[in-house]
Parts: sequence; structure tokens; C-alpha cells
Amino acid sequence: MLSKDVDFLGLLKTGMSSTPVGVVLVNAQSADMPIVFANQAFFDMTGYCKKEVIGNNCRLLQGAATNKNTVKAINKALRECRYGKFSILNYRKNGSRFWNQLTLSPVINSEGVCTHYLGFQQDVTKEREQEALLSYQANHDLLTGLLNRSALDDALEQRLFSANLANEFVVVMCLNLDEFKVVNDGLGYKVGNELVKQVAERLKRLLAPRDLIARLNGDEFALVVFDCQCYRQANKKAHEVLESLLKTFVIDSVPLHISGSIGISCNQRFNERAYELMQEASIAMTEAKSAGRNTWCWSHGQPNNILSSEVAVNLRYELSSALLDHQFELFYQPIINLNEGSVRSYEALIRWRHPEKGLISPGLFIPIAEQTGQIIPLGLWVLRQACADVLLMQRETGRSIPVAVNISPLQFRREDFFEIFLDVVSEFDLSLDLIQIEVTESLLIDGSSKAIDLVEKFRSVGVKVALDDFGTGYSSLSYIRSMPLDKIKLDRSFIKEIDTDLKSAAIVKAVVDMSHSLGLKVVAEGVETESQLDVLARYQCDYVQGFLFSKPLPLLDIIDRS
Ligand code: C2E
Ligand code: CA
Ligand code: CA
Repeated sequence: MLSKDVDFLGLLKTGMSSTPVGVVLVNAQSADMPIVFANQAFFDMTGYCKKEVIGNNCRLLQGAATNKNTVKAINKALRECRYGKFSILNYRKNGSRFWNQLTLSPVINSEGVCTHYLGFQQDVTKEREQEALLSYQANHDLLTGLLNRSALDDALEQRLFSANLANEFVVVMCLNLDEFKVVNDGLGYKVGNELVKQVAERLKRLLAPRDLIARLNGDEFALVVFDCQCYRQANKKAHEVLESLLKTFVIDSVPLHISGSIGISCNQRFNERAYELMQEASIAMTEAKSAGRNTWCWSHGQPNNILSSEVAVNLRYELSSALLDHQFELFYQPIINLNEGSVRSYEALIRWRHPEKGLISPGLFIPIAEQTGQIIPLGLWVLRQACADVLLMQRETGRSIPVAVNISPLQFRREDFFEIFLDVVSEFDLSLDLIQIEVTESLLIDGSSKAIDLVEKFRSVGVKVALDDFGTGYSSLSYIRSMPLDKIKLDRSFIKEIDTDLKSAAIVKAVVDMSHSLGLKVVAEGVETESQLDVLARYQCDYVQGFLFSKPLPLLDIIDRS
């Protein structure tokens, strides 16, 4: 080392002694790069004294949580004789941690050799904490600690991208507390805030770690659920959310009761953007509100026609618990081969045995279940039950008679309906010709070619498909021509007047003739009198169904009769 270099280092050391920045000087020529000088600010910052530091390597500041990659990057800069700036978590002598902003600077002598390194160290823990706090505040709702809207939007957008690629089901729920204003205005905002906090806690407990939850504003929350595999599970989750809110809240020893309304959207129809899913869920949430609160509503991308009657309003919510409480039953109505007079199949018709209201007509609750999306779990239940009942009938009577199940358009439009159907039937080890399906015209009108393909798929595996309620809707004859159907079910309204009204009779005759020429069978629904039966026999209608033969009956009655 040249004497002028030594002088230079001496000068440097003296100069650095009193700067407020921690400075160390290490010997680059010695293999372990020992510290040869450290200033007072360094001792103050780290708690070490001169004796403990001199001759040691700087790694004495590192600890378990120090980032290994940062250490590697520092070593690389040292090897390459480079200037470098790093933020590294260091440990004081007493074990406490601090964020060290380290600037490395090589000391090169007049011969171009790196003899030493200068390390400037600054404790930036406060700044780092402040930054972290600011970023937390920018992304979180301060009352509940949940994400805020913009952070949720960002997170959802990112996660949706990969979920869509992986074809994963993502469910977005927008939850608004019912009558929150009453709490806020009546009991004060402090109670309101506390309620919101407790709600947030309950909601968090319902979610998996990878799900997202945010408070959007006042009493509105968003939940993004990734672990639902299907609509049924999404409904279950919505149900859990509502149930969790129904349990009494206690604030300042005062019991409080609230409920919530949920709008649900999901990424299954299109690969939608985050903000679109949020928007749809939010619209569906207002629908859930106007549907009577304490319920959920799926976004269908089309306005639901909301049922306004008070009965319907109450039924909505009761529907979801009814399934769990086993309040549904299947009744069976025989479909008779007119020529032979024998039972050819049964139609499964759902019944809701409400604990207080008694039997509720499917005509009343099926449309509600369709609006809320509950028809999906309900329809699945019907299919399962029908399969179980066919098995029981087989066992008890020794005969295999097919059962027809009504399929709602909402079920039929589900991408996975065909697979679910096959799964369920095979679960029961049933032959596919023992479960038939009845679909309505509305499905064919807006589903067009997709619906036709699906009907074709069902038929290709041996499942018979009937077009239900023919004549009540659009009834374009051209649909039937393009549909690969097995049967047409003529609506009761035509049969009713078939023996008194010539026009009705003419329509029935025309439909029967046309269907036959297309290779389709015709079922007449709602046959109540012998005289109606006579006319149908004359027109060569294939099958008849109605009170003349039997009302829909519980399974055990059907077994007894056969
Ligand atoms: P639908 O599919 O047209 O079922 C036939 C309806 O006509 C049944 O009403 C049946 O009880 C009634 N019916 C049968 N014969 C006669 C008769 O001779 N006279 C009169 N007046 N009525 C007769 P129900 O059981 O009340 O069902 C009403 C509708 O609810 C069904 O109409 C169907 O659209 C729907 N539905 C029933 N069960 C299910 C189900 O499991 N899933 C779905 N998606 N819809 C169902
Ligand atoms: Ca039907
Ligand atoms: Ca019908």
C-alpha cells in the first residue's frame, strides 16, 4: 500500500468519525473482509462497541429474517468491485431488528486496486414502517381492516385472469346489510361501526385463505369465493353468509338483529372483467333487496321479473332452508299408453311440504327458485330423488318403468348440466333410458343451436326428451322440426276444451298428425274426462296423463297400486 493511500484512509477515518451516518470500512484485500474502522454513528445504531466490531465481518448484523437474496446481491457487488445500494433487514446486538439502507462504495487506490470498501448505513425502519402503513391505508378499509374497493378490483382482476385461463369457477358476491340505516340513525354511528366490524369478522370466518373480502362502503361488502365448484356450492356459501348474519349481534350489551341481501355473479358465462362481475353482482344485490331482503339473487345478465306478492317474498328465503330441512318430496303421475291402457312412464312432480303453510304448489315456488338460482340445487335434488325412487320401484314391483323429470331452462343452460346428469344417473347405476327429461319451449327459443346440440347429446346416450307445455308459448312448428325430440306434451289448455271447442280440437289433431309425420310421439296433459279421452283416441294421440287416470301420488302409493 502506498503511503499516500494510507494517509488518504487516515483522513477519511477522521472525517467519518463524527458524521451522523453509520460508516464502516472493510479491508477488501483480506479474504473475510474484516471491518477495520467503524464510526460512532454505527456503534449507536447497532449497539456494538469498537472491540466487538473491528476484525469481524459485517455479517454479524445479519439474522434469521435477513433476506438471503439481498445478501447474495451485496456479495456480488463486492466481488465485482461495484458501487451498490441495498435495503437489508439487520439485527442490533440486543437482537432487535432494523431496516438498514446500505450504500457500498469501493475504495480504489492509485494503481486501480480495490483495497477497501466503505459502507454507509442508515436506519430507515421508521420510513419503511411509514411506507408500509401508507400502502396498507391505500389498500384497506381502516374500520374493518378488510380490503377497500380499489384494492379488491386490482386483486380480482389479477386472479380472474388466471382463473379464466384455468377454467376455474369464480363467484363474486355483493352483500348489503338490510336496514343498516335504522341502526346507524337510531343507535348512533358508533354502534353502526361496531356492527360493521363484527359483521366483517363473521364474514372472514366463512372464507378460505385464498378468497377475497372487501368493504366497499358503509354497509356493503364484496366476497370473492374461489373454492366453489358449481352454482350449488355458491348458493350454499350465500346461504352460510345469510345464516351467519342472522345470529344475534351484541353491542354494548344490546342485542341486535340484522339480515343481508346478496347479489351473485360468476365468471361462467363469459370471461368477464373484474369490474363487470362486480357490477352484475351489485345489480343482482338490489334485486335481492327488492325481492324482500335476507335472500340472494343471481345475476342472469337479464332483468328478473320480480315477484311482488308477499307470499313470494317470504318463500324466497324459506326455500333455501327447505332443501336442507328435507321439506321437499317427489310425487309421481302415471303417463298411460292410450292404445294399451297401461302405464308407460311416470312424471316426477315436486312438492314442498312447508312446516306451517302445508303443501305449496310448484307453480308458486318453481318460478321463485328460478329467479334466485335456487332451482339449480333443487333440480339436482329432484334428479337424485327420482333416481333413488326408480330404484326403489324396481325393487318393490320388479318392473322398470321410466320416470320423466322436469328440467328448468336455467338448469339446462348450465355448461355442466349434461355431465352432472350422467354422473347422478350412474351414481345410482341406472340405465339411461329410465330417466327421461321434459324441457320447455322457452329453452329452445333463446338457446337455439346450443340447446339443440344438447338435446341431441341426451338422445345419443339414450335419454328421452319431451317438449313440455307445447302450445302455451311461442309454439313455432319450425322448432319441432329442427329439434331432435322424442315426445311433445300438449298443454292442458288445449285438452280442456277438446270435446267442446272445435278450434281446440282442430289444433290438437293438427299437432298429432304433424308430430307423427316427424316421427314424434304426443302426450296429452290434463285429461280429466272420458269424453276428452274419446276425442284423443280418435285422433290417435299416443299417451295420456291426467286426473282421469291418477293425480300425482307419493311414491309409496304408486308402488302399492302397481
Ligand atoms: P307441468 O310440467 O306441466 O306438470 C303438469 C302439471 O299438471 C302438474 O302440476 C300436475 O299435477 C298437473 N296435472 C296433471 N294432470 C292434471 C289434470 O288432469 N288436471 C289438472 N288440472 N292438472 C293436472 P304441478 O304438479 O302443480 O306442477 C306444476 C308445474 O311445476 C309443472 O308443470 C312444472 O312445470 C313445474 N314442476 C313441477 N315439478 C318440477 C320439478 O321437479 N322441476 C321443475 N323444474 N319444474 C317442476
Ligand atoms: Ca312436465
Ligand atoms: Ca306440462
